[in-house]
Amino acid sequence: MSKNKCRQCGIVNLSEDKTCRRCGASLNDEQSNESSAAEGTIEPRGIGRRLLWIAGTTTLLLFIAYMSLLLTSADLNYDQRNTVNAAVVLLEQDGFFRSTDALSRVFPAFG
Ligand SMILES: [Zn+2]
Repeated sequence: MSKNKCRQCGIVNLSEDKTCRRCGASLNDEQSNESSAAEGTIEPRGIGRRLLWIAGTTTLLLFIAYMSLLLTSADLNYDQRNTVNAAVVLLEQDGFFRSTDALSRVFPAFG
């Protein structure tokens, strides 16, 4: 029956499966009201992932800056700047212009 065919990705799952084995979507069409409510909580994956990436990158850069703080007790600002700039260059080489742009907005001094 079509009941166990995933609406999201089209894979046919076992009859006892309640969620898709590939993408994890609910296979129970009868309770579409409940499942759609549950899916609503997962929704904007792209935005969440981008925010996560920006937050992660920010944390990483802060960590790098903090480490340079620990390692050098003099010329902190200059050293921090170099470290963060090097990290930003690395990010730009990987094509993450958007997040580095956001970073330079968060840390105008490093832009
Ligand atoms: Zn699926």
